[in-house]
Amino acid sequence: TVALQRVVDGLCAVSSQDGLTGLANRRSFWNALEREIERSARTGDAFGLLLIDIDHFKQVNDAHGHLTGDVVLRAVAKVIESNFRPMDTVARIGGEEFAVILPNSPLIYSRQVAERVLARIARERIMVSPDLQLSVTVSIGVACPNAWTAREAEVLVEAADHNLYQAKRQGRNRVCWEPQPSTALTSTERALLLGLAD
Ligand code: GH3
Ligand code: MG
Ligand code: MG
Repeated sequence: TVALQRVVDGLCAVSSQDGLTGLANRRSFWNALEREIERSARTGDAFGLLLIDIDHFKQVNDAHGHLTGDVVLRAVAKVIESNFRPMDTVARIGGEEFAVILPNSPLIYSRQVAERVLARIARERIMVSPDLQLSVTVSIGVACPNAWTAREAEVLVEAADHNLYQAKRQGRNRVCWEPQPSTALTSTERALLLGLAD
């Protein structure tokens, strides 16, 4: 089964799916983000980016083992997926880190759905076995580019990650969405702005 797992891992690497959860994988997340940036630049639509990280997940592995950790990951992935629209991209982009791209979603909506999925995860009783039920919480960082923020994938992910870090620092189990600083402008956008100011 180790050999089989290697084949499965190999297939997943060339596909767009995450092997453990069936969600989009890291690679297809970045592709979807590039596509959404291009689309929203054309239409002027706002879109949302959420980074969702399980709180103190290491403790789950340490207390109950890696296999139980995997059960929890799959359960959380399922709750996340069931809370978004078919048009949204829901991906597992790291060990216990998920990302969601919300096309056509202003900040107010992105924040609302982030709060909702956070509450749903906290409420979920994950049945690991008949005598082991676990629950976990998550922290969420939101980024929502507007007309004057950078439309570069890396910059957007950094902004969401910064907000995720704030959520962790403020005690976890919360959503952070502070507006992005104007330094998040790309050099092209800065040049355009300065050009206009001349
Ligand atoms: P924080 O609240 O700050 O996010 O704490 P944390 O413990 O969740 O964060 P940390 O990054 O220290 O730990 C993440 C853990 O996730 C470490 C690693 O063992 C575990 N992990 C990563 N990928 C997998 C996986 O595929 N399966 C399992 N079971 N565990 C994983
Ligand atoms: Mg974590
Ligand atoms: Mg993490």
